[in-house]
This record gives sequence, C-alpha cells and structure tokens, in this order.
Amino acid sequence: MKALVLEKAKQLTLRDIHIEEYTGPYEVRIKMHTVGICGSDVHYYQHGAIGPFVVREPMVLGHEASGTIIEVGKRVKHLKIGDRVCMEPGIPDPNGKATRLGMYNLDPAVRFWATPPVHGCLRETVVHPGMFVFKLPENVGFDDGALVEPLAVGLHAAQKAHIRPGDLALVIGAGTIGLVTAMAAMAGGCSKVIITDIVQEKLDLASQLGMISVNVTRENVNEIVSKVSNGWGTDIVFEASGSESAISKVFEPLCPGGRIVFVGMPTHPVPIDIVLAQLKEARIDTIFRYAHVYPRALMLLESGKVNLNPLVTDRYTFEESVKAFEYAANPKPSSVKVVIEL
Ligand SMILES: [Zn+2]
Repeated sequence: MKALVLEKAKQLTLRDIHIEEYTGPYEVRIKMHTVGICGSDVHYYQHGAIGPFVVREPMVLGHEASGTIIEVGKRVKHLKIGDRVCMEPGIPDPNGKATRLGMYNLDPAVRFWATPPVHGCLRETVVHPGMFVFKLPENVGFDDGALVEPLAVGLHAAQKAHIRPGDLALVIGAGTIGLVTAMAAMAGGCSKVIITDIVQEKLDLASQLGMISVNVTRENVNEIVSKVSNGWGTDIVFEASGSESAISKVFEPLCPGGRIVFVGMPTHPVPIDIVLAQLKEARIDTIFRYAHVYPRALMLLESGKVNLNPLVTDRYTFEESVKAFEYAANPKPSSVKVVIEL
C-alpha cells in the first residue's frame, strides 16, 4: 500500500510499502481519512531520533488519526463497517502489570504508532485492536477525530490537576498541547485560564478561544497572575513548553497549596527550585500520554464544550505529504496544526 515513509533523517518518500495486515477476531481495519502532523513526527523527520528512540529502518510516520471502518473482526461488537472512528495510537501488552493496573500508557512494552520501530498511520489502511478504536459522534468530524489524540493529552493533564470549580489555571506554552490543555482546563471547571508564549500569533488565537494571553517577551506573567488572583497566585500550573527557563520559574506564580502538572518534555534534565515548591507545599504531577481518556474527549466534543476546529490551520492532501512535512518543519508563526487528508 501507499505510505509516507521516513527512510532516514531528512528523507521522506511517498511510496509503496509492504505491511502485513490481517484482521484478527478482536481487530478492525480502517481506511484512513485525516492524520494530524505532531511535533514528534516532525522531530523524527528532522533528526531521525527522539531520545532513546532511533529510526534505524524505514518507518511510516503519523499517529493522530481518524478514518472509516472497512472490516470488523468477528469478536468486535461495538463497531461496524462504515463507522467513522478515531484511534488510540498506543497498544499495550494486555498481560503487562502496568496494563492490568489500569496504567496501560506506562506499559514498557507499549507499541505506539510512529515510534521506532513501529509503523505509523500515514498509509491507506491500518488494522487496529477494536478496544482502541472509538466511534465518532454524529456531529464530530474527521478533523476533530484526528485531534482527539492531542486533546487526550490535555484532558489527562486536567484530570491529574484535580481541578475544582472556579480554579485559576496557568498554562505555559501555547502550541497545540498548551492550547488543548487550556481547553481541557476550561471544560474541566477552571474559571479563568492564563496562557503564555513568546509567539504573538499563537497568543492571538488563544485570546480568541477565551484565554488570557501573556506574551512573556514583554509582559511579566507573575504580575498578571497576581493581578487576576488578587495577590494569591494560580491554583494550577500546567507546564506545556518544555523550556528550561520557564521550568526554572515554574513555582513562582503558584498559590500556597497549588498543583503543578508537567506536560511538556524538555530535551535534557533541567533544574527546579525544590525549596520554593516546599514553601508552597506544591503538589507536583507529571503525565505521559494518556489512558482511558478518548471516551471523555469524544463526549466533550459532542457536547460542544470543546471545539478543536480553530486549531486546524493548514491542510494538505496525501499526495502532498512530503510538502506538508517540509512546511510543518518550518511553519508560519500562526500555524498550529497541519493535517493531511487521505
Ligand atoms: Zn502527537
């Protein structure tokens, strides 16, 4: 079948590739419709590796996807041919201890699309376990379906933050993950969400989405948090930038007893101020991807409490995939999510 193949760093081709596809009793086959390009896809394209994950053989990219069911294994009861669906890209070992404890995202044996050596989903069809395939509600489109994947990251972070109604949240970083985290925080009951970045175009979009935008190149976030909270501080900080300088100051705007969730991934170990965290008895949480979140994401999209459409800024066809990646590697500042339609 035709697929977008990363041959090695900086070399992408749209070509035929042989992938063994057999639809087992608990699996479904999906004809791909929309795939979002993620920062990790672009990173593999540019560098051929993320930390310990190195592309050693040609690998199909893509993990944010929606499509239509074309074949259903005989033990799959919740899906039928023609259903529009989205897919969780990580398949854990069902017998792993972390999986059995409900933390299947942390299963060391998880096979995640487009994380070497596992092929991704920028190809004509995929076979996937029915358990990780979710039917899209009537009013949820293929774009939203593909973007459920990043939204799930934001929702997982919001759950970890134990949001209480009326909380004030600060999100550091207004890329896709920062924006979906802010959306999840708003849908989760925060009264106000302050979001920071260094790119004004991203902040302009955040303002349109109802967030309080702070450009840290010319505004002081601690002062703004103090003003919004009458000097108390923010209840929650979501760190979604992965930036060392942002992380070094992450406890400053937090209120006493506040919570922080680390969402962004720095590229190397970075220091944090433990004493400042202690003075506030800050509760520190981290997330890695998500688990059991897709159904909630789809309910929120169906209800209209979350609308991902404003995040889709650029669209390419499958034939233009290589061009799409070249663009995603060097996008306009106003770009958030580039999608490929198959
Ligand atoms: Zn992603």
